[in-house]
Amino acid sequence: MLKLKGVEDVYYPESIQEAVGLLRKDKEGSEVVGGGLDISTLPSTRIKHLIFLDKLGLKYVKKTDEGIKIGALSTLSFAENSEAIKDYFGGKVKELLGGIATELLRNQITFGGALGKREPYSDIVTLLLTLNAKVVLSDGEWDEELSIADFYKGNFRSLIKERIIKEIILNDFDSSYFFSMKRFVRNATDIALLNAGMLLKLDGKKIVNSTFVVGARPKPAYLFGEATEFLNGKELSEELAEEFGNFVESNVDVGKDYRASKEYRAHISGVFAKRMLLEAMEG
Ligand SMILES: Cc1cc2nc3c(=O)[nH]c(=O)nc-3n(C[C@H](O)[C@H](O)[C@H](O)COP(=O)(O)OP(=O)(O)OC[C@H]3O[C@@H](n4cnc5c(N)ncnc54)[C@H](O)[C@@H]3O)c2cc1C
Repeated sequence: MLKLKGVEDVYYPESIQEAVGLLRKDKEGSEVVGGGLDISTLPSTRIKHLIFLDKLGLKYVKKTDEGIKIGALSTLSFAENSEAIKDYFGGKVKELLGGIATELLRNQITFGGALGKREPYSDIVTLLLTLNAKVVLSDGEWDEELSIADFYKGNFRSLIKERIIKEIILNDFDSSYFFSMKRFVRNATDIALLNAGMLLKLDGKKIVNSTFVVGARPKPAYLFGEATEFLNGKELSEELAEEFGNFVESNVDVGKDYRASKEYRAHISGVFAKRMLLEAMEG
C-alpha cells in the first residue's frame, strides 16, 4: 500500500451501507480493498480513497440451506481450511484451493478481490463458473443474487462501482454430480497457462447435463457452450473421452500470448477434457 502515492483517505466503514456511500461519493477515485494484492502490486495514481471492508463481518464460510456461503473477505486459505469446504465434492475444491499460487498469496487473495479483478488467468473465476456459483451484490439495503455468468455478462466493473460483492454462494450438489478442475502450470507457484473445469450431472453413465469452462486462454474464463451440446445425452466411455478431447482441441476458443501458442493451449484443453471424462468414468 505504501506504493500508492495519491491516497488521501483510508476508511474502515462499519456497515455495507456506509461503504457503498463512500464508494459512490467518488467512483473513480475510490477503491474497495479485499486482500489488497492487485491494488498494491499495480499501484494507480487514480486511487484517492481506500475503503477497507474489515469491519463488515464478511469473512466466513458456512453451510446454509441455500448452499455454502463464502463472505467476500474470505481468503483462499480461510476457505480451504473451513469445515464447509472440507468435503465439498469429496475434498476436490479444498485441494484445488490449496494448490493455487503460494501460501503467502493464498492468505491474502480474497474471493471478493478475485471476482472484482477477474484476472484472465484467475483460477477462482474458472472454479466458480464451473460450479455455476451465485454472486451477491449489496448496497446494504438490498441484496441482489446473480449467477456468476450473468455477473460477467455486462459491465461488471460498473456494477461494483455502485455496490460491493457481499458473498458468493456455492450450490449443493448431490452425488449424481461429478466435478473436476485442472490447471496447467510450469511449476507449483506459477499462474496457469490454461485452466479448465467440468461439471457433469450423471444418471448412471448417461450425461444428463454438463458444463465445461476454459480459462487463462489467455482471455478470461468462458463457458464453452458447444462442449455442453456435444456431451449432453451421451454415455460415458473411453471412446467418448477420446472424441471429446479431439472435439475440444479443434473447437475451443483459445489464443496465443508470450507464454504459449494457440495450438498448444488447444492441445492442453483437449487433453484436460479427455482426462476429466476418464476421471468421471472412474468416479
Ligand atoms: C504473484 C501473484 C500470483 C498470483 N497467482 C494466482 C493464481 O495462480 N491463481 C489465481 O486465481 N490468482 C492468483 N493471484 C491473485 C490474483 O491475481 C489477484 O491478485 C487476486 O485475486 C486479488 O485479490 P485481492 O483480494 O488481493 O484483491 P484486491 O487487490 O483487494 O482487489 C482487486 C479488485 O477487486 C475489487 N474488490 C475487492 N473486494 C471487493 C468486494 N468485496 N466488492 C467489490 N469489489 C471488490 C477492488 O476494488 C479491486 O478493484 C496471484 C496474485 C499475485 C500477486
